[in-house]
Amino acid sequence: MKIRKSRRISPLRTVIVIILSLVIMSGAAFGVYTYLHNQQIATEAKQAEDARIAAEKALADAKEAKRKEPVYITLPGAKQIRATVDDYTHPASMWVLVNKTHAIPTTYVPSSLVLPDVEERADKSSEERSVRADISVPLKSMFTAASADGHALMIGSAYRSAALQKTYFDSYAAASGAEAANQYSAHPGESEHQTGLAVDISTVSRNCYLNECFTSTPDGQWLAEHAHSYGFTLRYPKGKETITGYQFEPWHYRYVGVDLATALHESGLTLDEAWSYLQAALTTLQQNGAI
Ligand SMILES: [Zn+2]
Repeated sequence: MKIRKSRRISPLRTVIVIILSLVIMSGAAFGVYTYLHNQQIATEAKQAEDARIAAEKALADAKEAKRKEPVYITLPGAKQIRATVDDYTHPASMWVLVNKTHAIPTTYVPSSLVLPDVEERADKSSEERSVRADISVPLKSMFTAASADGHALMIGSAYRSAALQKTYFDSYAAASGAEAANQYSAHPGESEHQTGLAVDISTVSRNCYLNECFTSTPDGQWLAEHAHSYGFTLRYPKGKETITGYQFEPWHYRYVGVDLATALHESGLTLDEAWSYLQAALTTLQQNGAI
């Protein structure tokens, strides 16, 4: 009888199979672990990036909201006004303060000078009859309103370059001495006329022309009462001579826009006196990143 030899699996082969199986299984497990781990890292990285982007956006949004935040100015006795977003220390600013202690560069020339469509002294040069383009419309509106009320106004002098201002000052100083001239004329760089925002207004008849008595004329009174409604402020009022540094000039008006001109009119302050309020607003605008 033939005995069938059973096929025996050698222990060595078994061990090899087991080891190989373990190697394959552990490799697979490691692969799965690595995959999951990488997935988790990627998810966490994405979450971190999303959080960073969200934080950055929130910061940018907060900055933008702050930048757009309105800044207000309240002059004593006047209604609150909104500060214009501008650097008031710049000679082109509508609110720039130009006086004996706040000079502008003598090289400054307004970028847009035009001849306004109003009555002017024909014997003055076209340069001196010019104003900054952005005030020609309010100037025309004021003259038209004055005319409707029976006041024929005329501009005696508007823009003056630093060179022309020097000519004027030097001739006044030669005639009456530098100290006296300094009371009614300005050194180059210290005149509002150089901004193109100031006008000396008279009556067409030249009654009380550049004279204090202009304040008593119907034309002078109309201006004192209505100029602020068109954005103009009486720059050198009576009783404020030590503050403005100039004699009373009922003919010299400066454009600052309706809001500030009205607030100045209501408070009775000059631009010099309002300057600290404007500066505070400027600081806030700078801190807000608005300018
Ligand atoms: Zn003037």
